[in-house]
Amino acid sequence: MYEQVMSAGSPDGKFWRSKTLGEMSRVEWESLCDGCGRCCLHKLRDEDTDEISYTNVACRLLDLTSCQCSDYAHRQVKVPDCVQLTPASLAEIDWLPPSCAYRLLKEGQDLPDWHPLNTGQKLAITPGGASVSGRAVDERHAGPLEHHLVDWPGRMPRMAKKGASGR
Ligand code: SF4
Ligand code: SF4
Repeated sequence: MYEQVMSAGSPDGKFWRSKTLGEMSRVEWESLCDGCGRCCLHKLRDEDTDEISYTNVACRLLDLTSCQCSDYAHRQVKVPDCVQLTPASLAEIDWLPPSCAYRLLKEGQDLPDWHPLNTGQKLAITPGGASVSGRAVDERHAGPLEHHLVDWPGRMPRMAKKGASGR
């Protein structure tokens, strides 16, 4: 279970509606991440159009079962191109998946009903849901990224469209 993050000026605990990303505490900022693992998939950028294409190839540190980084504390030493999300870096990033809480809030949208901060429960690791569980491959075994282009990371999860929670 997730602990509700309460904040002053937000009686219902939904601090992301009353604070800008830059006003959030570290705990609040970190709690926005739903743990889907989609940002840990490799992306390709078209050199001519700048368009982003998603792949199902995951960073070698991503645990493909839990969808968590297996060494979050040392990730930027082990994977130097792992980008640390901050309010400042977020302004420069155009490749976060559309379901990512940071992208949603940056674009002025609300968090979906199924987000852990709304359900009070950790995101279920269910194939076909928001997480990459069951459909990502390890970069060490994947081969050329061009062979792994997929469109699902660039779409909202099915459950988001249904407005269901907990999956
Ligand atoms: S895509 Fe966004 S919500 Fe999902 S794991 Fe990455 S930072 Fe967290
Ligand atoms: S180092 Fe960890 S957080 Fe960074 S991309 Fe890889 S799995 Fe994701």
